Amino acid sequence: MNRTSDTASRIGSRRRIVCAQCNELLFMPEWSELLDEHRVRHLWQCDACGYAFETTVHFVEVAEAA
Ligand SMILES: [Zn+2]
Repeated sequence: MNRTSDTASRIGSRRRIVCAQCNELLFMPEWSELLDEHRVRHLWQCDACGYAFETTVHFVEVAEAA
């Protein structure tokens, strides 16, 4: 079955979050918190095993060289 590689390439441009415990693919964070204007913290919880963890996303400041 080629479905796995097809899915991987399609999602490849986006960041894929998987559970560190059971490898379940997580689509939506349970909770998102704006830390400041450049950082967002996401709280993830795995539906399959209940494992919870956080990720912090740093937005790169878009410095457009005029
Ligand atoms: Zn899990």
